[in-house]
Amino acid sequence: MITIALSKGRIFEETTPLLAAAGIHPAEDPESSRKLIIGTNREDVRLIIVRASDVPTYVQYGAADLGIAGKDVLDEHGGDGMYQPIDLQIAKCKMMVAVREDFDYFASIRSGARLKVVTKYVKTAREHFAAKGMHVDLIKLYGSMELGPLVGLADVIVDLVSTGGTLRANNLKAVEEVGDISSRLVVNQASLKLNRGKIQPIMDAFTNAIASRA
Ligand code: ATP
Ligand code: MG
Repeated sequence: MITIALSKGRIFEETTPLLAAAGIHPAEDPESSRKLIIGTNREDVRLIIVRASDVPTYVQYGAADLGIAGKDVLDEHGGDGMYQPIDLQIAKCKMMVAVREDFDYFASIRSGARLKVVTKYVKTAREHFAAKGMHVDLIKLYGSMELGPLVGLADVIVDLVSTGGTLRANNLKAVEEVGDISSRLVVNQASLKLNRGKIQPIMDAFTNAIASRA
């Protein structure tokens, strides 16, 4: 049995065509089903539905053979025990630094002020500011980071941005790019060794589907 860990929402939607290209069709729609284990048309392939940030954990420990996770999540988790063979080019967005519209980020940096940063991505943020030689105070949040600068919790947020609509709606502006984000296939290293016969064709189908789309 091959187990693939996916999260609901954007990643599931954008993964469905890739699974179809590999001849894998889910038996149920996870958005409407409450089941966490979803069968497919293939007796030897099942899907498990987990939180986006939990996908690497299931794959690392081999509870899932394959998974699909954002680079944001993988950078935070670290890649122990996993290969990341394919950039699936889905769920694309950018990790950005953003501030209140009336806040001068670059003047603040020049003045040497110590910035307060709220983010769900503490490791990514720490590495970004360290690489710039900046000392910052990091505060971890689990969501709605946009609120932080509005209520005085922080000067700066580090978060994913696609259209910028959420930033604008909250009088924030993006000031610096941290990096490009997209979702990656992750594969448990031991599973690939044991089950290459089943896993390699799935990887090849994904690769071909992406190439023919580009
Ligand atoms: P949860 O809602 O379970 O806490 P989450 O908020 O990280 O998790 P999603 O919002 O579905 O879950 O995001 C899943 C993944 O989709 C993220 O890890 C990221 O890689 C990608 N993603 C998030 N926001 C965007 C966006 N605005 N545009 C494109 N991709 C995005
Ligand atoms: Mg979410």
